[in-house]
Amino acid sequence: MLLTPGPTPVPEFVRAAMATETLHHRTPEFEAIFKNTRELLLEILDMPEALMLASSGTGAMEACIINLANKAITVNSGKFGERFGKICKAMNIPNIEIKNPWDTPVLADAVIELVKNDSDIDAICIQICESAGGLRHPVEEIAKRVKEINPNVMIIADGITAVGVEKIDTTNIDALITGSQKALMLPPGLAMIGLSNKAVEKIEANPKGYYFNLAIELKNQRKNTTAWTAATTLIIGLGAILEKIKADGFDTLYSDTAKRANATREALKAIGLPIYPKTPADAMTTIYSEKANEIRKILKNKYDVNIAGGQDDLNGKIFRINHMGLVAPFEAAWAVNAVEKTLADLGIRTFDGTANKVFMENFF
Ligand SMILES: *Cc1c(COP(=O)(O)O)cnc(C)c1O
Repeated sequence: MLLTPGPTPVPEFVRAAMATETLHHRTPEFEAIFKNTRELLLEILDMPEALMLASSGTGAMEACIINLANKAITVNSGKFGERFGKICKAMNIPNIEIKNPWDTPVLADAVIELVKNDSDIDAICIQICESAGGLRHPVEEIAKRVKEINPNVMIIADGITAVGVEKIDTTNIDALITGSQKALMLPPGLAMIGLSNKAVEKIEANPKGYYFNLAIELKNQRKNTTAWTAATTLIIGLGAILEKIKADGFDTLYSDTAKRANATREALKAIGLPIYPKTPADAMTTIYSEKANEIRKILKNKYDVNIAGGQDDLNGKIFRINHMGLVAPFEAAWAVNAVEKTLADLGIRTFDGTANKVFMENFF
């Protein structure tokens, strides 16, 4: 059972949709598929414009920085926030980093203070969910307050583990980034960006970059084609998953995910495991444990549950259970059940079925 917070399992109906013959990308047949996928994408992102790029999520992060930032604030509460800063350095774009421990969300006041004191800042780069520790940043509050000071500051929000997890208020967001292999349950290799009208204006006023020149992409994708060869198979898959999510209702996906996340957190707390982040996101449950790697090993080898660990300083100190995508409640219940049994295997706690009980009571 693959329960890592990306990649997530690709459902059978999506694999079947992607198993059709490869279409040439410059054909009316593919353009019709592109158009359908693009319309669904605009709907889930809830933004005026959207782009699909043949790259992993990091490519979209880089594209947004190249096209939208001249001096950025980057919020580093983990690996992915740190990456925004590294991209700025690689692109010679000055950045001011706000660094916090990986369990700590950024304070809106800290961002506002910097924006007030430096009028050169024209972009804020932040994760909605920082996947390194599974924490939720107060992006909406920051975006709203920054726009009150200067509406031209671009809010670049990495929603790779937030789009398809929860309804995101995009009122004050200018670029909403996501990727294929997380909540959208596709193979890796496709990145997507939702854009505000202000972001589109900025991109078109001063085109930048080559492969990631978003002005050229906008011109093409509005005509249902792409600047370079499209990731045809993944775009077909994206259309299939978005059609399914829409048919079930976007809100159903969000509320199911929230229920699974809540029931999992309550179940694991009930067997004595502490939740790592101060503000947990619903994309995943992150548990702090000095025995994290031993727990993961037993879970995988004995109970068939493959979950993620931690990186850098948190290697061996946390484990992360995915809630993104179409995870059935019985799968999530099995995961907490297996964690409880693993604690018994390690002599940490006697097994009494508490995790399963608490999960079921909370979920239903
Ligand atoms: C997975 C992820 C990324 C993108 O990583 P890629 O490996 O380039 O797809 C970026 N940000 C967050 C928050 C992520 O979880």
